[in-house]
Amino acid sequence: MSALRAVGVHAGYGPVPVVRAVDLHVSAGEILAVVGANGAGKTTLLTALAGLLPLSGGHLEVADARLTRTGPEQLTDAGVALVPEGRRLFQGLTVEEHLTLGRWRQRVPRAEFAERRRHVVELFPILEIRKDASAEVLSGGEQQMLAIGLALMRAPKVLMLDEPSIGLAPVIIDLVFAVLDTLRAQGQAIIIVEQRVQKVLQLADRAVVIQHGTIVAEGPARELATDPRLHAAYLGASSIDLD
Ligand code: ATP
Repeated sequence: MSALRAVGVHAGYGPVPVVRAVDLHVSAGEILAVVGANGAGKTTLLTALAGLLPLSGGHLEVADARLTRTGPEQLTDAGVALVPEGRRLFQGLTVEEHLTLGRWRQRVPRAEFAERRRHVVELFPILEIRKDASAEVLSGGEQQMLAIGLALMRAPKVLMLDEPSIGLAPVIIDLVFAVLDTLRAQGQAIIIVEQRVQKVLQLADRAVVIQHGTIVAEGPARELATDPRLHAAYLGASSIDLD
């Protein structure tokens, strides 16, 4: 069973098509990496999968059930959570307040909420220590952990992350990747867009390579690491991390 499946998905901005005919899927306990050069359409794809951009073609399935409506509320309620590029936390809200957000909309019972919170602070103990700190005074790494924690508080079927390593020190990137590895072992389905190509291909199970909004290669992540189509997709790109 797929946690999330995109079938023939098209999306763009107004009349400008960006993502074209994308088919992908991810299962529970699996990490799918989406890689490709700057401007290939990775963020646009994740935004569409999260319901934040309308589909101009194709459809989405969550847990093998086809969604008839694909707005942000439908995707959130179906169990798709996006950790956006740049974290996008709420200024003035503390760590604890962030973790509590969404409890009421989802009507999460107290015991279930406590269990989700316990899970999040077990993954990121710093969030317990910094629980009364306002989001804007957190370090970049703490903010990324909070953004992931916020998404996990919804107990999503699919966790999607857009460039989680941006602006983070190598040691923090390793910590975040280790948490993603733990989440996978716990059965979480994960889709990750990441510029650190070789690093993410070591972490992921499978990968898709996007070029001009279309998937040009897919397969086991470690095999794709040496695939010429991966290198071709990055030709001419300004920022690459292929080695
Ligand atoms: P990057 O790694 O640089 O973030 P990406 O693969 O995530 O790149 P997207 O950000 O999805 O690529 O951009 C794909 C294309 O869509 C680019 O040509 C970009 O200029 C265009 N685009 C992105 N956002 C918008 C927008 N809000 N309105 C119009 N065009 C956009």
